[in-house]
Amino acid sequence: TIGMLAIDENGDISGACTTSGMAYKIGGRVGDSPIIGAGLFVDNEIGAATATGVGEKVLKTLGSFLIVELMRQGKSPQEACEEAVNRIVTKDKDYKNFQIGYIAINKKGETGSYCVQPGFTYRKYSKNEHKNVPSGSFITS
Ligand code: ASP
Repeated sequence: TIGMLAIDENGDISGACTTSGMAYKIGGRVGDSPIIGAGLFVDNEIGAATATGVGEKVLKTLGSFLIVELMRQGKSPQEACEEAVNRIVTKDKDYKNFQIGYIAINKKGETGSYCVQPGFTYRKYSKNEHKNVPSGSFITS
């Protein structure tokens, strides 16, 4: 998946995502990317989130919607991404064998990211900075 979240100078938020699908997928499979709230969710009053990785896991928790709702309750984008990953790994003993990564942005333009396996990085563009931001991960080594 390629997920993109943007905020403009008026504070308006938008997002988009694509999907590469999954290798050896079942014919007719629909991943998380086309499902609003799973692979992507944008609420212009609060923020936005998008996901990459095994879509079935993201779908079961409506991960992107969950992150936006956690931000609505006052969590930072980083805290919300971490809780969304934690919801998945605490219920799934197989977590060492799959990757999920989330990125999120709030109305103030603060961003966050979190993933299951180490090695997930996102790119941040603004007027003043263009940089790769390494994501924290549930598994650290
Ligand atoms: N999330 C996508 C899916 O499950 C896979 C990807 O990351 O491209 O379809």
